[in-house]
Amino acid sequence: NLTGKTALVTGSTSGIGLGIAHRLAAAGANVVVNGFGDIDAVVGELAAHGTRIGHHGADMSRPDQIAEMIAYVEREFGALDILVNNAGIQHVAALEEFPVERWDAIIAINLSSVFHTTRLALPGMRKRGWGRIVNIASTHGLVASAGKSAYVAAKHGVIGLTKTIALETATTGITCNAICPGWVLTPLVQQQIDARIKAGASPEQARHDLLAEKQPSLEFVTPEQLGELAIFLCGDAAAQVRGAAWNMDGGWTAQ
Ligand code: NAD
Repeated sequence: NLTGKTALVTGSTSGIGLGIAHRLAAAGANVVVNGFGDIDAVVGELAAHGTRIGHHGADMSRPDQIAEMIAYVEREFGALDILVNNAGIQHVAALEEFPVERWDAIIAINLSSVFHTTRLALPGMRKRGWGRIVNIASTHGLVASAGKSAYVAAKHGVIGLTKTIALETATTGITCNAICPGWVLTPLVQQQIDARIKAGASPEQARHDLLAEKQPSLEFVTPEQLGELAIFLCGDAAAQVRGAAWNMDGGWTAQ
């Protein structure tokens, strides 16, 4: 039960972040969402759980805007108790052709933003003696795929950062862990399915081939399932889960 707690989920207007925001609100937490798109619709659907919902539109590639967002949460909600670092983007290209600007954007949004939100959220968590930091990494934080140099580097970095934060908070009521999802059918993955359709595959074949290449279960992980794992990590039973990189990947990294 997270009644009275306030959670910030970065990149939560879509996909996995939105699924986790729903589960946190259902557990009684006030939730601040972040990201782009139809904000009124997202805030409206989350408010149905009956807790207080806010939004901040910080661009996660901008440290100044991240600082404004953390200050907003602490000012308007009184505390930031649960930080879910979820915002992330993808770009697929061979290393020699990888656009330098995309490399910089992926490192900033997928990795450096975790450093910035965490360094700004920790003082308040330490003061209150309790906190939960859940970083949405990826199977690509554990193993690589060709064409995803920036994403794989950033996600391996997130797992390393998670371990360091866990050590620096080890004697406190603050825990920090990473979740490593396999394929989840969100806009981020649909782009990669669309690329296969453009190359000539039927929609069914494109989905099947994408899964078959990496995910032995041949089924997508869902945002709802990831929400349940996030809730577990936020609970008392997970107080000694520290610095973990916990996969939910249909067997991807068992191979
Ligand atoms: P998505 O594209 O559905 O959602 C991304 C969210 O981030 C959106 O709310 C978007 O508005 C927001 N966002 C994008 N750029 C931003 C920026 N600069 N500042 C603030 N917000 C920004 O993506 P998703 O698939 O739900 O991915 C969420 C996280 O899960 C990412 O970190 C991704 O790497 C990770 N992940 C996804 C999968 C998958 O299969 N979909 C697998 C493993 C890990």
